[in-house]
Amino acid sequence: MNNAAMTETPTTETTYQQLRQRHIAHAATLLPPMLDRLTWPADRLAEHRTTELRRLLRVARETSPWHRERLAGVDVDTVDESDLTGIPVMTKDDLMAHFDDVVTDERLRLDVVEDHLAALTSDAYLFDRYHAAASGSSSGTRGVFVYDWDDWATAIWTFQRHGIRGAQSRPAAEQVMSVVVVGAAVPTHMSSSLPQTFSMQDAVSKQIPVTRPTAEIVEGLNEAQPTVLVGYPSALHVLAAEARAGRLRISPQVISSTSETLLPEIRAVLAETFGAPVVNGYGASEAAAIAIGCGVGPWLHLSDDLVIVEPVDVAGRPVPPGTRADKVYLTNLFNHTLPLIRYELTDQIELLVDDAPCPCGCTHRRIADPYGRLDDTFTYGPIAVHPHLFRAPLSQRAEIVEYQVRQTPAGATVVAAATGPFDTAALAADITAGLARVGVPDPRVDVEVTDRLPRPASGKLQRFAPLA
Ligand SMILES: [Zn+2]
Repeated sequence: MNNAAMTETPTTETTYQQLRQRHIAHAATLLPPMLDRLTWPADRLAEHRTTELRRLLRVARETSPWHRERLAGVDVDTVDESDLTGIPVMTKDDLMAHFDDVVTDERLRLDVVEDHLAALTSDAYLFDRYHAAASGSSSGTRGVFVYDWDDWATAIWTFQRHGIRGAQSRPAAEQVMSVVVVGAAVPTHMSSSLPQTFSMQDAVSKQIPVTRPTAEIVEGLNEAQPTVLVGYPSALHVLAAEARAGRLRISPQVISSTSETLLPEIRAVLAETFGAPVVNGYGASEAAAIAIGCGVGPWLHLSDDLVIVEPVDVAGRPVPPGTRADKVYLTNLFNHTLPLIRYELTDQIELLVDDAPCPCGCTHRRIADPYGRLDDTFTYGPIAVHPHLFRAPLSQRAEIVEYQVRQTPAGATVVAAATGPFDTAALAADITAGLARVGVPDPRVDVEVTDRLPRPASGKLQRFAPLA
């Protein structure tokens, strides 16, 4: 049955809307247990993860040829989180090289999914039940992911359940949320397709393309008066400058930062400028929201009921709470269509040492803002330079609202957009001195000033661009 005759029949707009309405109704039934699990005691969550892990491994062993081989030595009926190290890790390269053997529905061949993604002009179903997403990584391999009916509905709540829980505790009059997303509509990316599947008429939600001129974005926001402002931190930083200059006049109750690393200096500026909680999200096409902020403090709660997150060092050894990991092994417990088991993500996360309960009442473990992807590190021969070396002097110049650091063979070119003049030579000298200090021989740094940094179609600003 797995042949050319199984090609997809085109889904009409009517069919799409019918499927979507059914999907919204079904998603509503999944929300109460997901809200409930936010406050389960830690041991009950651990037990739940073990049950779900065994379920995932059984499905993977029975229906994924690639996983079957790798799980040959694992007793899936007794395995628990402490035995994970006995299971080999997988990378995005593994996934893309063996995609057809990883998926548990043989119709979902990579060429079929790629054709579906290539034809997307807006959100659409594949085989009337699946959703596909691609991660447009600014550096490294592109990843392709598929979600089944339940998984896609679960995915939307991973992003929204903390906000819903918070809103429920507020007076009814304040529960009407006007959400404005300053982002990018890329139909292949989960961040635009997922909200589109589940968008409802009674929710006031609007998207302003981040690629528009700043004045137009400001005008759109002044008109919409959002109670929740969602955006990339690099874009929110620019908007904070607009607010300080008196041009942007909004009073959001929540600022929500997505997609890019939320640098501590930007978090501070946003909180101070808007006087509202800054909620950060750690999302990935691999598992939707892996962690999300509750707004009480500068931390995020892991999705402790839906994923297993192993913070590890460069060599893959477990890293304890209080230490920043170099990368993460992720096991997505809720997607049985594309089993991701100990899947490597190059994000640097840090579990908080303090395991006291969060004042918000959620029991899920907390992490600090993830930052400085390994991919952002510049290497000059044997010398690795952490992005912080550039960030620190850049963040000291309050005039600079947006920047990109492009690695060059001998150093870097910094392109900055600023609200006023600053001493470019002094900035170049500071960064040059930093590079010399860590041993980069004869570093050379140029600083260029621009009105606006070019954003790719994804809208995401690549702050650090290593040499290819
Ligand atoms: Zn909390």
